[in-house]
Amino acid sequence: MRETLVLNASFEPLSTVSLRRAVVLVMRDKAVVEQAHSGLLVRAAQVELPVPQVIRLRRYVRVPFRQRAPWSRRGVLVRDRHRCAYCGRRATTVDHIVPRSHGGGDTWLNTVAACAADNHRKAARTPGQAGMKLLVKPFEPTPADALLLALGLTEGESLPEWLTLPATA
Ligand SMILES: [Zn+2]
Repeated sequence: MRETLVLNASFEPLSTVSLRRAVVLVMRDKAVVEQAHSGLLVRAAQVELPVPQVIRLRRYVRVPFRQRAPWSRRGVLVRDRHRCAYCGRRATTVDHIVPRSHGGGDTWLNTVAACAADNHRKAARTPGQAGMKLLVKPFEPTPADALLLALGLTEGESLPEWLTLPATA
């Protein structure tokens, strides 16, 4: 899989991201192409974009984001694409898998997005105690995910349908 190097606005290397993500960053005006594969183009309805090897963010991102994404409720909702981990419907709340009253912490692995109804039903119990099943496994965002969270742009916001990517070369 082709990876694109992401530089901070200060030209400091931050991370690599997939080509799809790199294209989204450029299309959303979050980054500019610094170096591209010669002769390869990403075709869109109105635009032809050189396939980026290196992109540079327009806005400076603070360095800690490149290592680990700090936990936040918003971050959990974004990571889980606002889908309830118990029923798959739209989630607006964050559930602690091991409740805080049982010592569960504010961590990426202990929290999932949940709809208000399921969060209320589960209450201060573990999924096992509540007889509820997790449909997804929580994960810690990778440095690339962390970068996209920092930019307010995530995989959930997919490429526009009219954008086609070239076959891997
Ligand atoms: Zn639910």
